[in-house]
Amino acid sequence: MLLIFPPVAKPCEPPAGVALLSAALKEQGLACEVVDANVEGLLYLIQSDIIPTDSWSKRALKNREQILSDLKNPDLYTNMDRYHQRVYDLNKLLSMSVDTKRFKISLSDYSDARLSSVNSTDLLKSALHYRENPFYPFFEAGLRQKVLASASPFIGISLCYLNQALVSFALAGWIRDNFTDKRLVLGGGLVSSWMSRPDYNDPFKDLIDLSIPGEGEQPLLELLGRKNISKRHYVPDYDFVKPDLYLAPGKILPFRASIGCYWSKCNFCPEKAETRAYSSQRASKVVADLTAIDEQYAPDFVHLIDNAVTPAFLKALSTHQFGFKWYGFVRFEREFLDPAFCHGLKQSGCDMLKLGLESGDQSVLDQMNKGTDLNFVSTILKNLHQAGILTFVYLLFGTGYEDEAAAFRTLDYVKAHQDYIDYLNLSVFNLPKFSADAENLETQEFYHGDLSLYLNFTHPLGWDRRRVKHFIDKTVKKQMRVGSAVRKNPAFFSSNHAAFFKLKETITS
Ligand code: SF4
Repeated sequence: MLLIFPPVAKPCEPPAGVALLSAALKEQGLACEVVDANVEGLLYLIQSDIIPTDSWSKRALKNREQILSDLKNPDLYTNMDRYHQRVYDLNKLLSMSVDTKRFKISLSDYSDARLSSVNSTDLLKSALHYRENPFYPFFEAGLRQKVLASASPFIGISLCYLNQALVSFALAGWIRDNFTDKRLVLGGGLVSSWMSRPDYNDPFKDLIDLSIPGEGEQPLLELLGRKNISKRHYVPDYDFVKPDLYLAPGKILPFRASIGCYWSKCNFCPEKAETRAYSSQRASKVVADLTAIDEQYAPDFVHLIDNAVTPAFLKALSTHQFGFKWYGFVRFEREFLDPAFCHGLKQSGCDMLKLGLESGDQSVLDQMNKGTDLNFVSTILKNLHQAGILTFVYLLFGTGYEDEAAAFRTLDYVKAHQDYIDYLNLSVFNLPKFSADAENLETQEFYHGDLSLYLNFTHPLGWDRRRVKHFIDKTVKKQMRVGSAVRKNPAFFSSNHAAFFKLKETITS
């Protein structure tokens, strides 16, 4: 089988989903080829014939190869200003590689002024008019030979993010038109979300032969004649990863120890709304899998992509040392109250933890069902900081439980703890369409599309989106900038690059 991960996603690490599918297929003796068309496609555009229009683009074009090389060099990650200049220059080139009147492309986003990613009719139009897609020349130059070389009748497209949707369908249209003997299989996180909608009616059935919700391993194995295989956890197969391709200061490999979220109770969370069955393996088995990855691929970093790494797995990690550094998402669990535990994590290679604080107001947290005690948070942030682990704290403003006064309490809380917070991510709440919260609120369509996953709503406390955005831009960002210890978030790459800014001495290029 040929598995393709289409653009646009951040081009700093290989995709995990197709690596897990590849492992499942190969374990059953089935041939599997993986193409990361995301990184290859983005680099194709960046290295295309770009015509500079001003002094900025002239400079960026002149330095193009140097910029690409610098982004792979750990030295760049010692100077945030220089890093940002490089990233913005590269992004400038990428943005100019397409018809700017119609397409907007960046290192992390993609949009088309004529077609919407959340409208099934538009997605089918993207397939029909695939020649108009900016990645069409890449399909011909970078993918045609690979499709021709694949002996399998099946091609899988892994559609995980909204920014991949229009390109994925253009790719599907190109394959359908050019390789009539191939059968198309569509899966990935975004497809799962679409298919979990109660009103989903498979609008793509004339284009896609099989759409798969949830984990694709078992359905793909069934499709290829391997019935009744119930195994859910695999060690990802990263044999497809080409050296020196990704925009990162070392080899990063994503790894997932669990499926779904072990907490799954936060009222605002799409993970809860989608009710994906949670599954994890014994911590000792996961450590053994990570050791195998370490031995086989020698990554510089492992990105733990679990929704939240379980305390049991963290405990197992804290007593192991690997050849790589790692970072991932965790909840504010009691275990972090023990400074020795935090030091153990640092010893095991933990350079950064991402933490969903969401609010600095205990009443808001309780109504969210977040299960977080702010008294714990204070100690945990301090312990992690003292252990030398970077903290990347996520805040969510504008939930139905928050009013302006609560938002100010969050700001005060963050300011009081800013010495222990390295990065902040500020988000405006989007209401998941089929969540329990949506049933109790007056709602309106947010994006105009039948596949939209979110709703706008009339805020019960008058704390509406416009006011929330204004508060974030004019109050939070302003107050956190002046004399704050919190760092600037890496543009486009955000947490995917954040951990590297203290690691100069630990990276071997
Ligand atoms: S812990 Fe995170 S992933 Fe889990 S339910 Fe809460 S917000 Fe969602």
